[in-house]
Amino acid sequence: MIASPGVSSTLTQSEACDRRWDVGIIGAGVAGSSLAILLARQGHSVLLIESQRFPREKVCGGCLNQRAIASLDAMGVLAECMAAGAIDIDALRIRQGTHEHRWAIPKMLSLRRSTLDTILVRKSIEVGAHYLDQTSAIIDSSERGSSGDVGMRLRSQGNVSGGPSSTLESREANTLCKVRTRIAIVAAGLTRSPLTRSRSTSQDAWPAKTEPHSRIGVQALIPAEILEDGDGRWREALYLHAKSDLRMLIGSEGYLGVSLTDGGFYDFAAALDPASINRHRSIPAAIDHLLSECHLPLIGLLTPDGWKSTPHLTRRSWPVAQDRVFLLGDSMGYVEPFTGEGMSWAMAGAAWLSDRLHDAMSRSGKVGTDGQGVKDAEIAWNHWAGIQRRRQQSICRWVAGQVRHPTRTSWVLQGLDWLPPVRNILLRKATQ
Ligand SMILES: Cc1cc2nc3c(=O)[nH]c(=O)nc-3n(C[C@H](O)[C@H](O)[C@H](O)COP(=O)(O)OP(=O)(O)OC[C@H]3O[C@@H](n4cnc5c(N)ncnc54)[C@H](O)[C@@H]3O)c2cc1C
Repeated sequence: MIASPGVSSTLTQSEACDRRWDVGIIGAGVAGSSLAILLARQGHSVLLIESQRFPREKVCGGCLNQRAIASLDAMGVLAECMAAGAIDIDALRIRQGTHEHRWAIPKMLSLRRSTLDTILVRKSIEVGAHYLDQTSAIIDSSERGSSGDVGMRLRSQGNVSGGPSSTLESREANTLCKVRTRIAIVAAGLTRSPLTRSRSTSQDAWPAKTEPHSRIGVQALIPAEILEDGDGRWREALYLHAKSDLRMLIGSEGYLGVSLTDGGFYDFAAALDPASINRHRSIPAAIDHLLSECHLPLIGLLTPDGWKSTPHLTRRSWPVAQDRVFLLGDSMGYVEPFTGEGMSWAMAGAAWLSDRLHDAMSRSGKVGTDGQGVKDAEIAWNHWAGIQRRRQQSICRWVAGQVRHPTRTSWVLQGLDWLPPVRNILLRKATQ
């Protein structure tokens, strides 16, 4: 296993603002950095802007399904992910109460987001994209160039993550500048920070709806030696000897996924009712409640670095493209992560969008206005997002809906035990 070194800005904020870019991408998570790789490879000038300093953790189970693995391979980073210590996952062990079900699944990989996202950003730089870290960006709808360019306001943040100092830190902390791009991408995850309300109208140009009773995501990484070498309670209760199992524990107020990941950690990622956290007064206490419902030893206090959390998970934005701005990845809307497709959707979306944008920019040439080409790409992207929601997210929604009802969940799980052909179709659909 090799440690994943960090990654630094390739230019300063003022250098970024001195030129006009083909594409400006806000957010260097899986969605943004994948798009940066694909567009830079096609010869476009790409500025990738990230508010944090990498490597950074992010709330995620870190499981890459077959489709995600194929996307990583196509982008030329799969070998590096394996060399960084990605763990093979080939079985799903579901527990509700004292009932256990263990099923074989198509192979997945488990990799920390700090490792994966750093590999992707480094690749984007290698193929020609420019990267500006510790800088938050917002779309400035009042700033339109004569050729219709999108304006973005950049604010550098200094060394926000407390990691090793970057070249940027000493020079430009907390400065502000404006950058022009032909096309802007918002790949900022569940936060909507880059999208401001229009100053001219009181209406929100990017309305988003959070579903009632939406859960929130939480995560902690626990060192393997604490769980495996302790007094043996967790090792046995969580079947930690089965290194390639993804464990899902279902409780009445949420569910928790546990998998071994690179760097010698177990990734604990859960979707919880916000009311559960209020009721139990803290995230570790809510996780312990879930574990107690599954008759397992309590674990909350074993996480010295604490739990990270997300905003509400299930939301949708509409439209997802207008006026040369495109939303990508979780920024488009998201559903609960029980079957862990988020990263594969993000990468598949980046691949599809990169072809449309390449086509649009090639049709209009490098200079002058982009006209109809970009409009066509906006229409196509709105259409694609609609289909994605209907077809691909439907299983995820269905599964997430079932696990809210303990009795129904128990019947569904037993039914799947009795009907292997149905189970295999469902598992294939959910994990490929
Ligand atoms: C509990 C949980 C478990 C999950 N488990 C899995 C799993 O096992 N497998 C799977 O495939 N998916 C999983 N997901 C989903 C997955 O994490 C997301 O779908 C995926 O991270 C989406 O990637 P993204 O690039 O859209 O957003 P993100 O990964 O969130 O990246 C967004 C980036 O934008 C940056 N940013 C935000 N605002 C700004 C700004 N204004 N300026 C500059 N930068 C900005 C952020 O710092 C961040 O780095 C899980 C999600 C949750 C909540």
